Amino acid sequence: METILLKNIENPNSADIDEYIKAGGYRSLQKAIEMQPKAIIDEVKKSGLRGRGGAGFPTGMKWTFASSDPKTPRYLLCNADEGEPGTFKDRPILEKNPHLLIEGMAIAGYAIGAEYGYIYLRGEYPGAKDILDTAIRQAYDRGLLGDNILGRAVRFHLSVHQGAGAYICGEETALIESLEGERGQPRIKPPFPVNVGAWSKPTVINNVETLSNIPYIIETGAEAYSKIGSRDCPGPKLYCVSGHVERPGVYELPMGINLRDIIYTHAGGIRGGEKLKAVIPGGVSTPILPPDKIDCPMDFVNMPKHGSMLGSGAVMVFDDTVCLVKVCYRALRFFDHESCGKCTPCREGTGWLSNILGRIEHGKGRDGDIELLLDVAGNMLGKTFCPLGDGAASVVQNFIRHFRPEFEGHIRDAGCRLQN
Ligand code: SF4
Repeated sequence: METILLKNIENPNSADIDEYIKAGGYRSLQKAIEMQPKAIIDEVKKSGLRGRGGAGFPTGMKWTFASSDPKTPRYLLCNADEGEPGTFKDRPILEKNPHLLIEGMAIAGYAIGAEYGYIYLRGEYPGAKDILDTAIRQAYDRGLLGDNILGRAVRFHLSVHQGAGAYICGEETALIESLEGERGQPRIKPPFPVNVGAWSKPTVINNVETLSNIPYIIETGAEAYSKIGSRDCPGPKLYCVSGHVERPGVYELPMGINLRDIIYTHAGGIRGGEKLKAVIPGGVSTPILPPDKIDCPMDFVNMPKHGSMLGSGAVMVFDDTVCLVKVCYRALRFFDHESCGKCTPCREGTGWLSNILGRIEHGKGRDGDIELLLDVAGNMLGKTFCPLGDGAASVVQNFIRHFRPEFEGHIRDAGCRLQN
């Protein structure tokens, strides 16, 4: 498959505008501003592009909702707050291919009638901030951003807003609150941001990877794009593979590739010839899978049929030296720490799950603790304000569903036999 999202990143100067233009960059923006905005949205709809942040919502449909709302100004926000443990797929684009994102945003801004765009960048990516600031300045200098893009009456201004390191600000409405200078906590939905978003105006929020697909769609057309990947979820996908594989890293592969192929063909298999014990396929909040369940196409439609979710495409691989009680405990400590505290089931529930898992992990588990964990998780699921609470509860449920004997062994033996 042709490389689209990670094109030219092996070039040490790939973030420079001259290198990007030399490789054909910004041709799509030129083409786009000669099209009607509606024609661009139609092309994106036809391409079948779905949001790459985890939810998989059809991008063209989102753009239609915002562009048909008469309120102005409209805003375009790029969600670059990838904070899910295991997720680092957007980082190569931000640091090595920033003009691809800027070009995608300029096209998207024109299509939806947004004159202002913001890249909401996670606090832990200070290097990316400098690179993006430089790239944006270069784009302004070349007339690719600003009041008269490429000499036409097209206006799009772009800047970077850096978060302070809160995971919850990756949730779109908390992101908006944070951008507005408020405390980063989710808003109730509906209304959805496409109608009532930043400063109560129509707002499209797209992930870095989603927006970086746009130049290719405009350049080659929806039909060519839709031939990549699976029928239900076309296009390329960035899969970031971490853990016990020979070659961890970010891989650009067709959407819908088999999870086993990602691990054994592209990432080189399990490190040191060890046995595979478990895989979390899409970031820590997606359901964990045992080794006999990894023959599944990695896309938004097929993963749920196989008992998990695509999520962000962050594949975390564990070999059989790993204590999964400890992994589960560490995940819940993360959710407990990152819960924004707005709603009681999540604020209290993540704390209790973390405490109970902690005592099991440290050899102080009690009879009935597994049932207690399931009871607390069951009382959180579907009762929290945003997906963080659901994600935390389902992590516990799925670890116990697939690896219950390991939890029972910890309680029975007062600790871990693997001692890692
Ligand atoms: Fe905050 Fe958790 Fe409630 Fe989400 S589910 S609003 S993170 S307390």
